[in-house]
Amino acid sequence: YLELQGIRKQFGNTNVLNHVDLQIHEGELVTLLGPSGCGKSTLLRCIAGLTDIDGGKIILEQKDIVNLAPRNREIGMVFQSYALFPNLTVSENIQYGMKMRGASKGERRNRSEELLALIDLEDKRDAYPRHLSGGQQQRVALARSLAVQPKVLLLDEPLSALDAKIRKNLRTEIRDIQRKFNMTTIFVTHDQEEALIISDRVCLMNKGSIVQQGTPEELYTTPRTEFVARFMGSYN
Ligand code: ATP
Ligand code: MG
Repeated sequence: YLELQGIRKQFGNTNVLNHVDLQIHEGELVTLLGPSGCGKSTLLRCIAGLTDIDGGKIILEQKDIVNLAPRNREIGMVFQSYALFPNLTVSENIQYGMKMRGASKGERRNRSEELLALIDLEDKRDAYPRHLSGGQQQRVALARSLAVQPKVLLLDEPLSALDAKIRKNLRTEIRDIQRKFNMTTIFVTHDQEEALIISDRVCLMNKGSIVQQGTPEELYTTPRTEFVARFMGSYN
Protein backbone atom coordinates (compact mmCIF):
# COMPACT_ATOMS: atom_id res chain seq x y z
CA TYR A 1 0.00 0.00 0.00
CA LEU A 2 2.76 2.41 1.08
CA GLU A 3 6.31 1.47 0.20
CA LEU A 4 9.53 3.32 0.93
CA GLN A 5 12.44 2.25 -1.24
CA GLY A 6 15.99 3.27 -0.40
CA ILE A 7 15.14 6.63 1.14
CA ARG A 8 18.27 8.75 1.62
CA LYS A 9 18.61 12.12 3.27
CA GLN A 10 21.65 14.19 4.18
CA PHE A 11 21.91 17.42 6.12
CA GLY A 12 25.26 18.88 5.13
CA ASN A 13 27.69 15.97 5.22
CA THR A 14 25.67 13.95 7.70
CA ASN A 15 23.60 11.00 6.52
CA VAL A 16 20.39 11.29 8.46
CA LEU A 17 18.60 8.52 6.54
CA ASN A 18 20.57 5.62 5.01
CA HIS A 19 18.59 3.73 2.37
CA VAL A 20 15.48 3.18 4.45
CA ASP A 21 13.17 0.46 3.06
CA LEU A 22 9.73 -0.03 4.56
CA GLN A 23 6.45 -1.58 3.42
CA ILE A 24 3.18 -0.83 5.12
CA HIS A 25 -0.09 -2.62 4.47
CA GLU A 26 -3.43 -0.89 4.24
CA GLY A 27 -4.91 -0.38 7.68
CA GLU A 28 -1.69 -1.25 9.48
CA LEU A 29 -0.27 0.77 12.38
CA VAL A 30 3.52 0.77 12.21
CA THR A 31 5.61 2.43 14.87
CA LEU A 32 8.99 4.03 14.29
CA LEU A 33 10.83 3.73 17.56
CA GLY A 34 14.33 4.89 18.36
CA PRO A 35 16.57 7.26 20.29
CA SER A 36 16.57 11.01 19.87
CA GLY A 37 18.22 12.08 16.63
CA CYS A 38 17.92 8.70 14.84
CA GLY A 39 15.87 10.22 12.02
CA LYS A 40 12.24 9.42 12.90
CA SER A 41 10.82 12.90 12.36
CA THR A 42 12.93 13.40 9.25
CA LEU A 43 11.53 10.20 7.74
CA LEU A 44 7.95 11.34 8.41
CA ARG A 45 8.66 14.78 6.98
CA CYS A 46 10.07 13.15 3.83
CA ILE A 47 6.93 11.01 3.44
CA ALA A 48 4.70 14.06 3.93
CA GLY A 49 6.77 16.06 1.44
CA LEU A 50 7.85 18.69 3.97
CA THR A 51 11.50 17.73 3.39
CA ASP A 52 13.01 16.78 0.01
CA ILE A 53 14.76 13.42 -0.19
CA ASP A 54 18.18 12.89 -1.76
CA GLY A 55 17.33 9.49 -3.16
CA GLY A 56 14.73 6.75 -3.16
CA LYS A 57 11.07 6.24 -3.94
CA ILE A 58 7.86 6.71 -1.99
CA ILE A 59 5.17 4.54 -3.56
CA LEU A 60 1.58 5.05 -2.45
CA GLU A 61 -0.95 2.77 -4.15
CA GLN A 62 1.45 1.93 -7.01
CA LYS A 63 2.32 5.59 -7.65
CA ASP A 64 5.61 7.34 -6.86
CA ILE A 65 4.58 10.48 -4.97
CA VAL A 66 8.07 11.96 -4.54
CA ASN A 67 7.41 14.77 -7.00
CA LEU A 68 3.98 15.69 -5.63
CA ALA A 69 3.51 18.77 -3.45
CA PRO A 70 2.60 17.97 0.17
CA ARG A 71 -1.07 18.88 -0.25
CA ASN A 72 -1.41 16.50 -3.21
CA ARG A 73 0.03 13.48 -1.43
CA GLU A 74 -3.16 12.61 0.52
CA ILE A 75 -1.11 12.19 3.66
CA GLY A 76 -2.12 13.68 7.01
CA MET A 77 0.32 14.58 9.74
CA VAL A 78 -0.03 15.37 13.44
CA PHE A 79 2.88 16.91 15.34
CA GLN A 80 4.02 16.77 18.92
CA SER A 81 3.05 20.42 19.41
CA TYR A 82 -0.57 20.40 18.29
CA ALA A 83 -0.10 23.37 15.97
CA LEU A 84 -3.78 24.33 15.81
CA PHE A 85 -4.67 27.72 14.37
CA PRO A 86 -5.06 29.87 17.50
CA ASN A 87 -7.50 32.33 15.93
CA LEU A 88 -9.85 29.63 14.62
CA THR A 89 -12.40 27.74 16.74
CA VAL A 90 -12.28 23.97 17.17
CA SER A 91 -14.77 23.34 14.38
CA GLU A 92 -13.08 25.87 12.09
CA ASN A 93 -9.76 24.13 12.72
CA ILE A 94 -11.29 20.78 11.81
CA GLN A 95 -12.88 22.22 8.66
CA TYR A 96 -9.83 24.17 7.51
CA GLY A 97 -8.33 21.56 5.18
CA MET A 98 -11.70 20.69 3.69
CA LYS A 99 -12.35 24.37 3.02
CA MET A 100 -8.99 24.65 1.22
CA ARG A 101 -10.05 21.72 -0.93
CA GLY A 102 -13.33 23.39 -1.82
CA ALA A 103 -15.77 21.25 0.18
CA SER A 104 -19.22 22.79 0.58
CA LYS A 105 -20.34 24.32 3.85
CA GLY A 106 -22.86 21.55 4.51
CA GLU A 107 -20.36 18.84 3.77
CA ARG A 108 -17.82 20.49 6.07
CA ARG A 109 -20.27 20.86 8.90
CA ASN A 110 -21.43 17.24 8.69
CA ARG A 111 -17.92 15.88 8.65
CA SER A 112 -16.83 18.16 11.47
CA GLU A 113 -19.79 17.12 13.67
CA GLU A 114 -19.04 13.46 12.97
CA LEU A 115 -15.41 13.95 14.03
CA LEU A 116 -16.32 16.04 17.08
CA ALA A 117 -18.51 13.15 18.25
CA LEU A 118 -15.66 10.73 17.62
CA ILE A 119 -13.23 12.71 19.78
CA ASP A 120 -15.97 13.49 22.31
CA LEU A 121 -15.60 17.27 22.09
CA GLU A 122 -19.01 18.32 20.75
CA ASP A 123 -19.41 20.83 23.58
CA LYS A 124 -16.15 22.55 22.54
CA ARG A 125 -16.96 23.13 18.87
CA ASP A 126 -16.95 26.93 19.26
CA ALA A 127 -14.06 27.17 21.75
CA TYR A 128 -10.63 28.47 20.81
CA PRO A 129 -7.58 26.21 21.21
CA ARG A 130 -6.16 28.19 24.15
CA HIS A 131 -9.20 27.18 26.20
CA LEU A 132 -8.57 23.47 25.71
CA SER A 133 -6.29 21.14 27.63
CA GLY A 134 -3.27 19.61 25.87
CA GLY A 135 -5.03 16.30 25.39
CA GLN A 136 -8.11 18.02 23.95
CA GLN A 137 -5.97 20.06 21.56
CA GLN A 138 -4.23 16.93 20.38
CA ARG A 139 -7.60 15.25 19.73
CA VAL A 140 -8.63 18.26 17.64
CA ALA A 141 -5.34 18.03 15.71
CA LEU A 142 -6.13 14.37 15.02
CA ALA A 143 -9.68 15.23 13.88
CA ARG A 144 -8.30 17.98 11.64
CA SER A 145 -6.00 15.49 9.90
CA LEU A 146 -8.76 12.92 9.49
CA ALA A 147 -11.20 15.50 8.09
CA VAL A 148 -9.62 15.45 4.63
CA GLN A 149 -9.67 11.63 4.56
CA PRO A 150 -5.97 11.03 3.98
CA LYS A 151 -4.69 7.70 2.67
CA VAL A 152 -1.97 7.64 5.30
CA LEU A 153 -1.76 9.25 8.72
CA LEU A 154 1.61 10.23 10.19
CA LEU A 155 1.76 10.86 13.94
CA ASP A 156 4.99 12.38 15.24
CA GLU A 157 5.12 11.82 19.00
CA PRO A 158 1.53 13.02 19.36
CA LEU A 159 1.44 12.13 23.06
CA SER A 160 4.83 13.23 24.31
CA ALA A 161 3.72 16.69 25.51
CA LEU A 162 0.96 15.19 27.68
CA ASP A 163 1.07 13.90 31.21
CA ALA A 164 1.10 10.17 31.93
CA LYS A 165 -2.56 9.50 32.58
CA ILE A 166 -3.87 11.46 29.59
CA ARG A 167 -1.19 9.82 27.47
CA LYS A 168 -2.46 6.36 28.26
CA ASN A 169 -6.09 7.24 27.60
CA LEU A 170 -5.31 9.02 24.38
CA ARG A 171 -3.16 6.25 22.98
CA THR A 172 -6.07 3.84 23.41
CA GLU A 173 -8.36 6.37 21.75
CA ILE A 174 -5.98 6.82 18.82
CA ARG A 175 -5.75 3.06 18.37
CA ASP A 176 -9.56 2.72 18.44
CA ILE A 177 -10.02 5.48 15.87
CA GLN A 178 -7.24 4.05 13.69
CA ARG A 179 -8.94 0.64 13.70
CA LYS A 180 -12.39 2.07 13.10
CA PHE A 181 -11.22 3.95 9.99
CA ASN A 182 -8.82 1.17 8.96
CA MET A 183 -6.35 4.07 8.70
CA THR A 184 -2.86 3.24 7.50
CA THR A 185 -0.73 4.90 10.17
CA ILE A 186 2.91 5.53 11.02
CA PHE A 187 3.30 6.40 14.68
CA VAL A 188 6.58 7.83 15.95
CA THR A 189 7.68 7.53 19.54
CA HIS A 190 10.81 7.07 21.59
CA ASP A 191 8.83 5.29 24.31
CA GLN A 192 9.21 1.51 23.94
CA GLU A 193 6.24 0.72 26.19
CA GLU A 194 3.99 2.89 24.04
CA ALA A 195 5.30 1.19 20.89
CA LEU A 196 4.74 -2.30 22.29
CA ILE A 197 1.15 -1.53 23.23
CA ILE A 198 -0.12 0.42 20.24
CA SER A 199 1.49 -1.24 17.19
CA ASP A 200 0.80 -3.95 14.68
CA ARG A 201 4.48 -3.74 13.83
CA VAL A 202 7.47 -1.95 15.31
CA CYS A 203 10.48 -0.66 13.36
CA LEU A 204 13.40 0.14 15.59
CA MET A 205 15.67 2.81 14.14
CA ASN A 206 19.21 3.78 14.99
CA LYS A 207 21.41 6.34 13.24
CA GLY A 208 19.24 6.68 10.16
CA SER A 209 18.52 2.98 9.55
CA ILE A 210 15.85 0.51 10.54
CA VAL A 211 17.83 -2.03 12.58
CA GLN A 212 15.02 -4.52 13.21
CA GLN A 213 11.31 -4.74 12.52
CA GLY A 214 8.62 -7.15 13.58
CA THR A 215 5.62 -7.55 15.83
CA PRO A 216 6.01 -6.06 19.30
CA GLU A 217 6.44 -9.60 20.66
CA GLU A 218 9.19 -10.44 18.17
CA LEU A 219 11.24 -7.37 19.00
CA TYR A 220 10.85 -7.89 22.70
CA THR A 221 11.49 -11.63 22.83
CA THR A 222 13.98 -12.11 19.97
CA PRO A 223 16.11 -8.98 19.63
CA ARG A 224 18.82 -9.55 17.01
CA THR A 225 21.39 -7.20 18.51
CA GLU A 226 22.48 -5.84 21.83
CA PHE A 227 21.11 -2.43 20.83
CA VAL A 228 17.64 -3.84 20.16
CA ALA A 229 17.65 -5.82 23.39
CA ARG A 230 18.61 -2.79 25.43
CA PHE A 231 16.17 -0.48 23.74
CA MET A 232 13.26 -2.91 24.01
CA GLY A 233 14.03 -3.59 27.65
CA SER A 234 14.36 -7.31 26.93
CA TYR A 235 16.77 -7.73 29.86
CA ASN A 236 14.36 -6.38 32.47
P1 ATP B 1 13.70 13.05 18.41
O1 ATP B 1 13.30 11.75 19.06
O2 ATP B 1 14.57 13.86 19.29
O3 ATP B 1 12.53 13.81 17.88
P2 ATP B 1 14.29 12.17 15.69
O4 ATP B 1 14.58 10.70 15.61
O5 ATP B 1 12.95 12.64 15.29
O6 ATP B 1 14.66 12.65 17.18
P3 ATP B 1 15.25 13.90 13.60
O7 ATP B 1 14.53 15.12 14.03
O8 ATP B 1 14.74 13.18 12.42
O9 ATP B 1 15.42 12.88 14.82
O10 ATP B 1 16.75 14.32 13.34
C1 ATP B 1 17.71 13.41 12.82
C2 ATP B 1 19.03 14.11 12.67
O11 ATP B 1 18.96 15.09 11.66
C3 ATP B 1 19.50 14.84 13.92
O12 ATP B 1 20.86 14.65 14.07
C4 ATP B 1 19.17 16.29 13.63
O13 ATP B 1 20.06 17.14 14.29
C5 ATP B 1 19.33 16.37 12.14
N1 ATP B 1 18.43 17.36 11.52
C6 ATP B 1 17.08 17.34 11.52
N2 ATP B 1 16.56 18.36 10.83
C7 ATP B 1 17.62 19.09 10.38
C8 ATP B 1 17.76 20.29 9.61
N3 ATP B 1 16.70 20.93 9.15
N4 ATP B 1 19.01 20.72 9.36
C9 ATP B 1 20.09 20.07 9.80
N5 ATP B 1 20.03 18.93 10.53
C10 ATP B 1 18.82 18.45 10.82
MG1 MG C 1 11.49 13.76 16.25
